[in-house]
Amino acid sequence: MAEPLEHMPSDNERVNRALVGVTNGNFGPLDWYEQAACRNRDSRLWFSSYRRTIDGAIGVCRRCPVRPACLALAMEHPELVGVWGGTDETERAQARREACRQARQRREG
Ligand code: SF4
Repeated sequence: MAEPLEHMPSDNERVNRALVGVTNGNFGPLDWYEQAACRNRDSRLWFSSYRRTIDGAIGVCRRCPVRPACLALAMEHPELVGVWGGTDETERAQARREACRQARQRREG
């Protein structure tokens, strides 16, 4: 059963935008989701604008057996907002920028 978290948002548009591609199969088969710790929980927790709620979702992700697959998907698709693989979208954007910076450094020697 999901733990109650404070400040649950009702930002349905944000949730819908993020999930429409998943439900339409735009990201290929997501078989690993069968084992997801967030399965059968209120998905709004993963798409909140509130830091406290985001941190609660990330806490669930830390115990999730499919976290690497989830994070890999979100890293490949910058359009995915919200918490994926134990990271929020800001952290993923920073990781992408850092990966680009390191790749540029390697190319330039
Ligand atoms: S890592 Fe987090 S968002 Fe991804 S499937 Fe697991 S619980 Fe859900």
